[in-house]
Amino acid sequence: MEPPHFVMFPFMAQGHLIPAVDIAKMLAKRGVTVSILVTPKNGCRVKKVVDRAIASGLSIRVFHLRLPCAEAGLPEGCEHFDTLPSKDHVLNFFKATAMLRDQVQDFIARVNPTCLIADMCFPWATDVATQLGIPRLVFHGTSCFSLSCVNLLENSSFFEGIASDTEYFVVPGLPHRIEITKIQARGSVQELNPESVEIRKQIFNSEEDAAGTVANTFQELESEYINKYANIKSKKVWCIGPVSLCNVEESDKAERGNTAAIEGHECLKWLDSHAPGSVIYVCLGSISRVGDVQLMEMGLGLEATNRPFVWVIRNASDAFESWLSEEKFEERVGGRGLLIRGWAPQVLILSHRATGGFVTHCGWNSTLEGVSSGVGMITWPVFAEQFCNEKFIVGVIKTGVRVGVEVPVQLGMDESGEVQVKRDDVKRAIDELMDGGVEGAERRERARRLGEAAKRAVEEGGSSQVSMTELMQDMVRLKASYSDKSLDATKLDEISSLI
Ligand code: UDP
Repeated sequence: MEPPHFVMFPFMAQGHLIPAVDIAKMLAKRGVTVSILVTPKNGCRVKKVVDRAIASGLSIRVFHLRLPCAEAGLPEGCEHFDTLPSKDHVLNFFKATAMLRDQVQDFIARVNPTCLIADMCFPWATDVATQLGIPRLVFHGTSCFSLSCVNLLENSSFFEGIASDTEYFVVPGLPHRIEITKIQARGSVQELNPESVEIRKQIFNSEEDAAGTVANTFQELESEYINKYANIKSKKVWCIGPVSLCNVEESDKAERGNTAAIEGHECLKWLDSHAPGSVIYVCLGSISRVGDVQLMEMGLGLEATNRPFVWVIRNASDAFESWLSEEKFEERVGGRGLLIRGWAPQVLILSHRATGGFVTHCGWNSTLEGVSSGVGMITWPVFAEQFCNEKFIVGVIKTGVRVGVEVPVQLGMDESGEVQVKRDDVKRAIDELMDGGVEGAERRERARRLGEAAKRAVEEGGSSQVSMTELMQDMVRLKASYSDKSLDATKLDEISSLI
């Protein structure tokens, strides 16, 4: 009997690719054969991690798709959403991904897998799979809390009754009282343009016809919102996270998503030299681009805390580098500040005992990685669903402190040169998180307990482990029913025993 075969088709951005590879490893560890569809440059990003997984005996295969950049009006080789030259390329990027349809269709027809787990950004994947008799699952990569908010607000006419962009209102129909503004809920200061509205509509429709949703979350974190979202969609949601916890070896934690700009052992040596729970880790994700003046303000705020910190700076401009050296910033903060220019081994840093707080942009992967490590968070949302995730961290699980961002940065790329968060706010939020009297102690205790719950969820018998088993069994049955070649009960049991 052949083992089940799952195809993973992640969107070409770190926040989608990284968890997809984790899911592939988790499935393969349970006896499933996994094929991952990526473009060559995205394949490079995960090559080391995937090669190691294959060498350890896991049945994972990587297949390359050619992204038709030139045909879609993109510069040649522009295969990562997170390295697009400017905001103007966003729609063309989506156009290019839609042109992958024939290649994906050919692949699925050829290998006839058990199911296709395709990113939400590929709405056409539902059609492709359904026509070939394959169940399609949607992977959103975000929380069921923010999916519920978006569905309750964006996909109803609710916003039509909200005149102001910046006045707070209460999100209707949620178990908690969540206050948010229109632009925060949208994660954008502009109304969507007609092409984006169309893409959103297609995403929404493709979910209606899909077999369900795979979510990187866990029951103990947001069970009310998992149920809420499943009810809104009338679909099953398999919660199998936090997927980052499948990375146990130091090398897997250190090389997740990219080769880090600092050696893992160098980073660990630095962290080892600091007291448990004392270090602030600062990273605003893989997409958002922070302007120079805001970066300077952030640095001065970190310096003012007098606490040890690891500060991840992506794409530092020459002007910012000059500022650092003119100010002698690194000498001033001495052994107390570690600057990582480029890709950081985030999970390695967060899971180190010295790390006590996380300044995060509230991307869902980062949020969940913070939760899994049991650290409190300082929330600095930039765009997209990050404001919803901030509400979740601060208002639902209550493990974070807001730095005070009110307005999204359009598509996460700051070109305004303005300062949204002043150095005093950076210091205030960090002090409140790391100290903060009784309230602070309670917040840290909640974070610690959630970290324990996250680890239990992915252990043998934990909620996410059980959900993973269900996912595999459900897909084998569904595929059999789609193919109308109903497997008899004995064969299904035989497959179930394999997984
Ligand atoms: N990440 C990392 N090193 C970095 C920046 C990001 O390992 O220097 C990883 C991080 O651990 C997370 C992912 O990249 O898994 C970012 O995803 P998230 O959803 O948090 O935010 P996005 O980058 O998509 O906005």
